[in-house]
Amino acid sequence: MSHYLWIKNGLVIDPINKREAIGDLFVKEGLICKSLTKQEQAKATVFDAQGLVVAPGLVDIHVHFREPGQTHKEDIASGSRAGAAGGYTTVVCMPNTNPVCDNAGTLERINNSIEKDAVINVHTTGCLTLGMKGEHLAPTGQLKQAGIVAVTDDGICVQNNEIMRRAVEYATLFNLPIMDHCQDASLTEGAVMHEGEVSVKLGLRGWPRAAEDIIVARNIILSELTGARIHMQHVSSYHSVELLRNAKAKGIPVTGEASPHHIEFNDASIGDYNTLYKMNPPLRTDKDREALIEGLKDGTLDCIATDHAPHSPTEKDCEFEKAPFGIIGLENALASILGTLYHTQRFTLSEVIALMTYKGAAICDLDAGTLSEGAAADICIFDPNQKWKVDPEAFKSKSKNCPWIGRTLKGQVKATFVGGKEVFRLR
Ligand SMILES: [Zn+2]
Repeated sequence: MSHYLWIKNGLVIDPINKREAIGDLFVKEGLICKSLTKQEQAKATVFDAQGLVVAPGLVDIHVHFREPGQTHKEDIASGSRAGAAGGYTTVVCMPNTNPVCDNAGTLERINNSIEKDAVINVHTTGCLTLGMKGEHLAPTGQLKQAGIVAVTDDGICVQNNEIMRRAVEYATLFNLPIMDHCQDASLTEGAVMHEGEVSVKLGLRGWPRAAEDIIVARNIILSELTGARIHMQHVSSYHSVELLRNAKAKGIPVTGEASPHHIEFNDASIGDYNTLYKMNPPLRTDKDREALIEGLKDGTLDCIATDHAPHSPTEKDCEFEKAPFGIIGLENALASILGTLYHTQRFTLSEVIALMTYKGAAICDLDAGTLSEGAAADICIFDPNQKWKVDPEAFKSKSKNCPWIGRTLKGQVKATFVGGKEVFRLR
C-alpha cells in the first residue's frame, strides 16, 4: 500500500478548524498533510470523493464490545469492524465485561486483544468500584497507568452517595473523567419501559424520569463540591437536560451525551412488545426527544454516543419483561442522526459532525476527531443523501439487536480510514 493518500474533490468538513469547502485532502505516512509533491502525488492512492463529505473519523465514547466473557455477542475484532462500517475510527469501551475491568490484569488482557484485533482506535475505561458493586473503590491509579481514559460503572449506577463522592475525588486525583449511568435503583425495580400512558396501556412496569433526574442532580452537586468532571451517559429525560443546562450556566464541570435511539424513537415505538426497543434508560416521549435535540443545539449536551450494546438473538427473542436491555447502533448511527438532525434542517452538517467527533473526544481527552495538519489520518467519507435499507445480513457486528433493521435511512458511509489505512469500503 502506498504511503500517500489523495482524497479528491470531496466536501471537506472539519468543524474544529471551521473548514468546510470542496477540495482535496492529503495524507502522508498516516498523517494529514497540507499537500503532496508531484512525485508523491504520482505514487499516491487516489480516492475520488466527488459528491461525498470528507469528515474526521467519528468518535463514540460509549460502546460495549463484550470481550472478555461474552464474545458470542461481540468481540474487539467484530465490534471494531462494525465501528469502521459506521464511519467510526475511535471508540471507548465500557468495563462491564466478564470479568469486569476493575484491575490491571484484566485490562492487560483487553489491551492485548485490542493490539491484535482492533481495526480502529479502541480505548478502555476502568470500573469506578470493585466488581461494579458500588462498595469499594477500584485501583484507579493502576488502571490509569495501564491506559484507561475514564472511570465508570456503566450499567450499574453507584447508589451510595458517600462512595460516589470518594470515587469521583479519587478519579480526579488522576485527572480522569467519571462517566455515570444515572439510575436510582430504588425507583426502577422491575421497570422495563418509560412510565407513562404507553406503559399503562401495555401493562408494563414503568420507569420514571425521576430515576435519572435524581442521580443527575446528585452528580451535579458532587461535581460542584469536588471539582470532578462528571459525564452523564445516555441522557433521556427532559428534566435532566434542564438540570445540566443550569449546572453548566454556573460553570460546574459536568457534561452529557445523547444516543441516536433516544433522539429518534419514543416509548410508543415499542409497538407490540418489540424487544428491539428495550433499552436502559428507556425510550421516552416526544417532549424528551425535543429536549435532547434542544440540548444538543445549545451545547447543554456535548456529544452523541451510541451505547452499542450487542445481545444474541436468543436473549432478545422472548417476553418483553425478560429481554435484556440494550441495542446495537454503530453501523447506522450517522444515518440516524443525519435523519433526525440534518435532513430536518435543524443542524448543519458541520454541527452534526462536531457532535460525533471532537466534542466526545474532548470529554475523554482523546487526540481524535480532527483533520488538522499533522493529526492521524482518521477519516470518514459519506454520502449525506444516499438512501439505504438497514439489512442485518450486512452487519459486521456479531449481533443483530438493532431497531433500525428494515428501515430506509438517508446518509451512507462509503469509506473509513484509520491512520491513512482503509479499514472499510462500501462495495
Ligand atoms: Zn448505561
